[in-house]
Amino acid sequence: VVVPDRLPVLAIDIGGTKLAAGLVAQDGTLLRAERTPTGTGADGEALYARLEVLAETVAAGVEVTGVGVGCGGPMTWPSGEVSPLNIPAWRDFPLLARLAARWPGVPVRVHNDAVAVAIAEHWCGAASGYDDVMGMVVSTGVGGGLVLGGRLVDGRSGNAGHVGHVVVDPEGPDCVCGGRGCLEAIARGPAVVAWAVAKGWRRGSDAAMTGRELGADAADGDAVAVAALARAGHALGVGIASATALLDLDLVVVGGGLSQTGGLLFGPLEESLRRHARMAFTRAVRVVPAELGQEAGLVGAAALVLRGDRYWSAD
Ligand SMILES: [Zn+2]
Repeated sequence: VVVPDRLPVLAIDIGGTKLAAGLVAQDGTLLRAERTPTGTGADGEALYARLEVLAETVAAGVEVTGVGVGCGGPMTWPSGEVSPLNIPAWRDFPLLARLAARWPGVPVRVHNDAVAVAIAEHWCGAASGYDDVMGMVVSTGVGGGLVLGGRLVDGRSGNAGHVGHVVVDPEGPDCVCGGRGCLEAIARGPAVVAWAVAKGWRRGSDAAMTGRELGADAADGDAVAVAALARAGHALGVGIASATALLDLDLVVVGGGLSQTGGLLFGPLEESLRRHARMAFTRAVRVVPAELGQEAGLVGAAALVLRGDRYWSAD
């Protein structure tokens, strides 16, 4: 006899470069997963059709207890119409409604992809056991999510935790959001690479010039690459110091591709954080790397369903 509340959750993670679907058990274990490139087509229906096939493949022959989704923002929340900045084919796309029609009779919950990563780290990663946490994703963008008092904070429109658009330098570079000097405008991977290129960083003609290559060169001691990561780290430290003063955080968890550069990023981050966080309660904050890697997006999406008491306030 199958006990319904022991069933897994169908988890979906939608980013600008990849779509992922997985089955997540009640304890947060990722049982199986499939990934495919998001693609750059302009046909939103075709993209949705591919997503549904991916999810059906993962869930084939399995009864699921709900569907949890992390998707790039912005979106309307909790109704789940999504307009991801890096997926132009979807503007006000009714993602939650479409999934609910395909998987009727179970909860379907959609939230920001960085929020999913943050709650995954809080549920069963680096922030497990802490009550006041900011989770951050530093990759193509800079995203975040807030857990305060042990519960996800959504804000009025579900967009609380957008730490990437906290201003860290009012005279800084333009941001994709239309503002200026946002943390994301300085610390997102492409911005770090662009700054390094402007300062003369070069690679062999056939090598991609991404954060991964920049991190490798920095690890080899390339001075410009080291300085580029230090600049991003300093900006992150400023943003984290400000967030800590505002929110009285225990812990900040930093994940995403650029965080893989380790001490080259975290060293300058700590230096800057310690320079700006001077009160006893702000000095107490700790910054640690994420633990869950690329599974975090799926695990956090599942947590919207499996730990709705902490992470889903909308019902
Ligand atoms: Zn911005």
